[in-house]
Amino acid sequence: MDKSPNVVRHQPAVIRSRRETLNGHRSVNLWFTGLSGSGKSTLAHAVEERLHLMGCRTYVFDGDNVRHGLCRDLGFSPEDRSENLRRIAEMVHLFIDTGVIALTAFISPLRADREKVRSIVGPENFIEIYCSCPLEICEQRDVKGLYQKARRGEISNYTGISSPYEPPVAPDLTFDTNTQTVNECIKTVVLYLKEMGIII
Ligand code: ADP
Repeated sequence: MDKSPNVVRHQPAVIRSRRETLNGHRSVNLWFTGLSGSGKSTLAHAVEERLHLMGCRTYVFDGDNVRHGLCRDLGFSPEDRSENLRRIAEMVHLFIDTGVIALTAFISPLRADREKVRSIVGPENFIEIYCSCPLEICEQRDVKGLYQKARRGEISNYTGISSPYEPPVAPDLTFDTNTQTVNECIKTVVLYLKEMGIII
């Protein structure tokens, strides 16, 4: 619902395409999705490092810098997860307008929520990257010790344990992080961005 109907947008002269020209690359959203521990943060930051060294303007959004700030009032119920992603999508949309390559590392377990993100960010800006990894491996990695807690029943609504994860139907890229190395994944993303004409 629109609570501020009389707000009129100012038409800027410095627009996205001018910023992209200045940056020397296009802006886009690399949306990493997958179970906790599947490698989203690792890959988002590793790809960012590579792109940064190539002279690209980048920013990584992940749970830590969003859930402690913009979304600190939200929990992990389906409604709150949905609102969390809606806010992130709106923010990413603004970052796209700044000409930045926005990399996002969120479990984003539900297809419907990811589709909502796609429509807010703009389908032409949204590249869905599925970090595929068997639950057993994610549990073995247990990067944050949260699977153990979830198994003990100390965390409710934990994706993969007590809350569903719906894999993407047609992701733009899929990485099997159980068998592929981080370097292989980075190379594939960079190649994809070149093929799509996003970077040169
Ligand atoms: P998430 O952000 O999805 O919760 P993390 O990136 O925090 O996952 O953790 C993934 C773990 O898996 C890290 O310890 C990382 O080193 C390891 N790993 C092994 N192979 C890969 C790969 N190909 N891609 C990403 N992470 C990998």
